[in-house]
Amino acid sequence: MKNAEVITKITTTSGLIDYDKTYKEFSWEAIKKEFSLTNNRVNIAFEAIDKHANNWRKNKIALYWEGADGSLQKYTFSELKRLSDKCANMLKTLGVKKNDRVFIFLPRIPELYISIIAIAKLGAIAGPMFSAFGPDAVRDRLQNSEAKVLITTPELKERVDTILWELPKLERIVLVNNKEDYELEESDVCYKTLIKDASDKFNMECSDLEDPLYILYTSGTTGKPKGITHVHNDMLSHYITTKWVLDLRDDDIYWCTADPGWVTGTVYGLWGPWLNGISIYVFDGRFDAAKWYEIIQTYGITVWYTAPTALRMLMKAGDDVIKKYDLSSLRYICSVGEPLNPEVIRWGLKVYDLPIHDNWWQTETGSILIANYPCLPIKPGSMGKPFPGIKAAIIDNKGNELPVGQQGLLAIKPGWPSMMRKVWGDEKRFKEYFNIDGWYTTGDTAFKDEDGYFWFIGRADDVINTSGHRVGPFEVESALLEHKAVAEAGVIGKPDAERGEIIKAFVVLREGFTPNHELEEELKKFIKHRLAAHAYPREIEFCHNLPKTRSGKIMRRLLKAREMGLPTGDLSTLED
Ligand code: AMP
Repeated sequence: MKNAEVITKITTTSGLIDYDKTYKEFSWEAIKKEFSLTNNRVNIAFEAIDKHANNWRKNKIALYWEGADGSLQKYTFSELKRLSDKCANMLKTLGVKKNDRVFIFLPRIPELYISIIAIAKLGAIAGPMFSAFGPDAVRDRLQNSEAKVLITTPELKERVDTILWELPKLERIVLVNNKEDYELEESDVCYKTLIKDASDKFNMECSDLEDPLYILYTSGTTGKPKGITHVHNDMLSHYITTKWVLDLRDDDIYWCTADPGWVTGTVYGLWGPWLNGISIYVFDGRFDAAKWYEIIQTYGITVWYTAPTALRMLMKAGDDVIKKYDLSSLRYICSVGEPLNPEVIRWGLKVYDLPIHDNWWQTETGSILIANYPCLPIKPGSMGKPFPGIKAAIIDNKGNELPVGQQGLLAIKPGWPSMMRKVWGDEKRFKEYFNIDGWYTTGDTAFKDEDGYFWFIGRADDVINTSGHRVGPFEVESALLEHKAVAEAGVIGKPDAERGEIIKAFVVLREGFTPNHELEEELKKFIKHRLAAHAYPREIEFCHNLPKTRSGKIMRRLLKAREMGLPTGDLSTLED
């Protein structure tokens, strides 16, 4: 088998103790009983916030927040209840109703978290957007979802100003503004002023379990990003995976480094831990090894959920910086989003004296589906075993399950609570996920070993994973084509030791433009500003033409093979 190394440093747990027995006996119905459902009606915001605000956890800190400038704030569960009630009343006054889309374009500030809770209380649908997005990314999301309200800051609104005319359905912009002298435009309203006057008693909309809760956009090989839509019922998965995979307990201080603009930041950055009544820590700052260790020391972080790129960057920062901090509070570390190299796990064991638990899932799956658990040995390089209630398999392209050790498509039997319910406004793309014999197909390739552990191989399509962020080549190609110098562009993911993959663009210039370093830098800047800071091509190669099929499609597969010096495979569809 690929890797015989096993780490048997099993952590004590109060959650999942016997994997095999639990897997065999598990039922989602039993998990459902842990919630206060009446006729299948409930609201995730009640279960995650108000319930705790009404019980012994009311004065427990729900959120420790630290700004990039070092400012600190903390909120108890009852404060979050009161503030989200106020925010819900404010949004109601602005005309927000059940099922309306309210998009949020904010840094990781407390108002981001409060708005997400408030939107759920209204029965409306939240659309968190990563604050590094540029105007094109924001426009695609607001346009497709027909968002009614946008919550943002004056600084981020500047990025939206140029595209507002393309958003006829957007009725209101709520500005979270920290400057006293800021002059509002007539169509905008001020969050802080309205919140001050709003009532702190809100009659929460009781939601059906199948009512939509949030939309997060994610990339595929072709077309614009897809609006992956999730429902309140997701909370069954959020709750139990947080408990058993992240192993959270009541006295934990938990830090998830992901932004709610990505699915990990929404599901395990707030809902999962709060459904379990856990105190979370949020840092609205950039990566910095010393700062990160200082956070762990200062807040006594016990459980830490992060990503392979961040861990590789910490490894690169060296072991000396670790020695300056007391990290003894840490008891459990998890990682997600991209392959976790075995050497990072070995390094983690050495410097933190803890194994790092890799787990696998996607925006579409809505919760962790394959994981390493505290009660099971880790095989470094493996994503672990399916969560109880999840049937995962390796299949061929007809839907037949493949035997142990054979590589194929990673597929899941549909029916778990947090599976996406639709691709917003695109039934066809939704159905495409299920067109191999009823399996949910993940787009990933993998194999299973004789002990039931799953090993990630790669993507079955052209989707790029850079620093754990999923980027569609089509989006980058389209954005490049908007530049006056670009005639054609082909974009691929190129393996990179630190970021997993980097984006590489092959560009054919229009007549009259000369390839040079300045133009290369200009194109990088152009994409950073228009699309997103994480989605720009770190490498650009100018060329005279791009390999295309006879129907005119750019053959990214061939670009990639050539780039990596690999066999080019079947070229029968290549244009002359
Ligand atoms: P996203 O929907 O943006 O979270 O991206 C999901 C994709 O990230 C998956 O389909 C995988 O390709 C990749 N991914 C997530 N977790 C892992 C993991 N533990 N190991 C390898 N790849 C992963």
